[in-house]
Amino acid sequence: MDAAAEIVTVGPPTTSDRLSLARKVFLFFMVEGLPLLGLLYGVWLFLHEGIRWLDVGLFVGMYVATMTGIELGFHRYFAHRTFETTRPIRALLLILGSMAGQGSTLLWSGLHRWHHAHTDIPGDIHSPTLGRQGWWQRVRGFFWSQFLWYLDSPAVVLFARFMNRHRADPEIALSSPEDTQEFRIVRTMPDLVRDAWLVRLNQRYGLWVLLGLALPAVLGGLLTGSWEGAWRGLVWGGFVRFALVQQASFAVNSVTHTLGTQPLACRDDSRNNGVMAVLTLGAGWHNNHHTFPGSAFTDFRWYQVDISGLMLRALEKLGLAWDVRRPSPESIAARKRP
Ligand SMILES: [Zn+2]
Ligand SMILES: [Zn+2]
Repeated sequence: MDAAAEIVTVGPPTTSDRLSLARKVFLFFMVEGLPLLGLLYGVWLFLHEGIRWLDVGLFVGMYVATMTGIELGFHRYFAHRTFETTRPIRALLLILGSMAGQGSTLLWSGLHRWHHAHTDIPGDIHSPTLGRQGWWQRVRGFFWSQFLWYLDSPAVVLFARFMNRHRADPEIALSSPEDTQEFRIVRTMPDLVRDAWLVRLNQRYGLWVLLGLALPAVLGGLLTGSWEGAWRGLVWGGFVRFALVQQASFAVNSVTHTLGTQPLACRDDSRNNGVMAVLTLGAGWHNNHHTFPGSAFTDFRWYQVDISGLMLRALEKLGLAWDVRRPSPESIAARKRP
């Protein structure tokens, strides 16, 4: 059913090659510290000057656009290949997902395939429950998988350099006997690294992140005809949106492997969580997703709202998406817990 799971050949990550504490602090500051400072500034601005309709519009518009890039693009298209679509839509999903600043398309997809191949068992790079006994350990595991997990995966830092070195010769990277995390991650996605067009767009990741900040600033400036409007667009559609999309996505690792229901029989700790499903445009039906990772949709009951799935249904009706993969009602019924 799940093509991504079938091609994963990696073992658990090695424990060697840890990052030094200084590099961890720097990385945390760059990845999460700066966005959280931007969020705090947004709160300060709200308390002192309130919020305007244009601020709300730019925040919601950029949140939905970049979360769609993550959930429909990075997750359901690139990581799981649950449907096919046109090249312009692939490019749009890649750019919107990159604007979320959660790593390049290839890094995100490789790490996610790894997560599915080792969910909540040794090797999972962000399981909140793996090896955690007792409530205190569970609480620590929860916060580690929400805020800190990537600091224990050196490949997250080194992967961009690795792809630069190997983008012209993916076969060497795929067949190399080297056992570093970078080589292991690349071996989870032969289909993606052999796609030269995708690799080229992927390597412009930094440009897409900056575009995600510039776009709401330009819109805010043009719509108000002022520098102040541009600044507010940057704050609400850029900084605040960036921080909240990032934390909502990371909460799929922590919250939906800890809190929620498990209506379907699945070997891991994944849960369905309605609040997370709204915030992540459908990823929060995580027990459904882990039970059927090859499904393009996560809504298996009438009350389960899957906004990315609704967008995909619209694309399919318009003839812009095809080979959309769905589990049969019988296979879903067969996995229901008694
Ligand atoms: Zn998961
Ligand atoms: Zn997945």
